[in-house]
Amino acid sequence: MQTYKGKSVYGGIAVGKIHIIKKKERLITQRRPKSAEEEIARFEAARTNAKEQLAELYGRAVAEVGETNAAIFEIHRMMLDDDDYIEAVHSIISDQTVNAEYAAAVTADNFAEMFSAMDDAYMKERAADVKDISERIIGILTNSDGRIFMGGEPQIILADDLTPSETVQLDKSLVLAFVTVHGSTNSHTAILARTMNIPALIGVKLDISDNLEGKTAVVDGFNGVMYIEPSDECLREAECRLSEEKKKHSLLQKLKGKENITKDGKSVMLYANIGNIKDLAYAKQNDAGGIGLFRSEFIYMESVTYPTEEEQFRIYKKAAESMSGKRVIVRTLDIGADKQADYFNLGKEENPALGLRAIRLCLKRPEIFRTQLRALCRASHYGKIAIMYPMITSVGEVRKIKEISAGVRAELTAEGIPLGETEEGIMIETPAAVMISDLLAKEVDFFSIGTNDLSQYTMAIDRQNQNLEEFFDPHHEAVMRMIELVCKNAHAENKWVGICGELGADLELTERFLRMGIDELSVSPSCILPVRNRIRSLDLGDGRGV
Ligand code: PEP
Ligand code: MG
Repeated sequence: MQTYKGKSVYGGIAVGKIHIIKKKERLITQRRPKSAEEEIARFEAARTNAKEQLAELYGRAVAEVGETNAAIFEIHRMMLDDDDYIEAVHSIISDQTVNAEYAAAVTADNFAEMFSAMDDAYMKERAADVKDISERIIGILTNSDGRIFMGGEPQIILADDLTPSETVQLDKSLVLAFVTVHGSTNSHTAILARTMNIPALIGVKLDISDNLEGKTAVVDGFNGVMYIEPSDECLREAECRLSEEKKKHSLLQKLKGKENITKDGKSVMLYANIGNIKDLAYAKQNDAGGIGLFRSEFIYMESVTYPTEEEQFRIYKKAAESMSGKRVIVRTLDIGADKQADYFNLGKEENPALGLRAIRLCLKRPEIFRTQLRALCRASHYGKIAIMYPMITSVGEVRKIKEISAGVRAELTAEGIPLGETEEGIMIETPAAVMISDLLAKEVDFFSIGTNDLSQYTMAIDRQNQNLEEFFDPHHEAVMRMIELVCKNAHAENKWVGICGELGADLELTERFLRMGIDELSVSPSCILPVRNRIRSLDLGDGRGV
């Protein structure tokens, strides 16, 4: 039995045979064509063909993973129209009098190298995209279509890395788990795995060789481990956990439609965190009472330029309508630090987590903020939209935000656009906001505690840095006391308070949170029923103190 560690991007257990997906190693030879013009014409024909393929893939991906996740194929299509890219291929063909496939391969290498050398995480990811589009062109030019063949049985997919085109081609009903040697938490494969509840590991340092094909493996997405040729004991244990998971899953299904109420009658709002509108289906399937955190920055991150008011309006309207009157809390743009979109042209910062991000960026660039607020206010006519502002540190910021948002509402009303009521709340995710939560509570309708950032800023531990794990205590007493103080201050002003960070789904803390008086928990869709189960098992008795 061989054991490999990796980073889990989605939990769960899988047992099955390995199927390796290897990049086709095409031997691209350099040829001297009859004429450079003819080669340029070949390249242009392949480019048109590639764009058609991408349009088809986009259509398929929209149906499978929704518009936002499918946007990558639109990006690829636009990259194929990029003047610099086309110009580079054309000039290699004509300056060196070489064949089109060779020129496309050299251009891909040059561009990928340039992108990988950039500091910007978003641009680094574009290196894989430029390779992907060139592979497609080369496939067309050499008549090899690059289709991925899978057997008829569900398998554990093992790859060096998976490009978006490869991921979308896979028949998801035949995928037991994804394991990749490279990849990042925000890669398309990772997003797909999380959305579709498929166990997935990235960064598994193993040498992918053909002799692994067909071997039995166990993927433990909870502990980030993969066992190849597992021992009988390991296999038995995995089968056992798998059937436990299935049992747990079907037991939890029985909780659908039930209240989130403790034995002694305290009820809690249990909402879902989502990143795009496709996730709404998962939120509803898991019986979410509302959306507690719609991370709207993903709309910006998956777009090649600023999403327009109209584009955003359509997304928020769809969310509002689809939740049929249940609360949909949309968090305004929280870009910066680890979440980047290159067109914002945010300069390099020494300490990006403490830099120009989230509400600070919105207040510095109010035109971007106003576009989003207009879209949100317009969507409020179609359901129960609430707006939530991230990274607040002062009362002054909140007053400024309220002024801008009142201005936007007045403007829309003057234009004759119908609006609904919108609650306005803030995220409590900085120690500063905690300490002045008594003052902030007078200004807003609700609080939602972002424990991911609150823990990072309280313990001074970069949430992205894996090397600090031994110093990170997710249950640190400082964070617990902060949550308690926020509850007390919110309730003194009759405002409700929730938790939308990862800690909200921590079953070990549910009782403590309820005793503190937390009114709402917003968790990823797959955690809703387990948290409901926990709430229903609790009896807080009379003494509600912590
Ligand atoms: C948080 O900080 O807890 C939070 C919910 O926001 P994000 O994880 O998107 O920063
Ligand atoms: Mg946060």
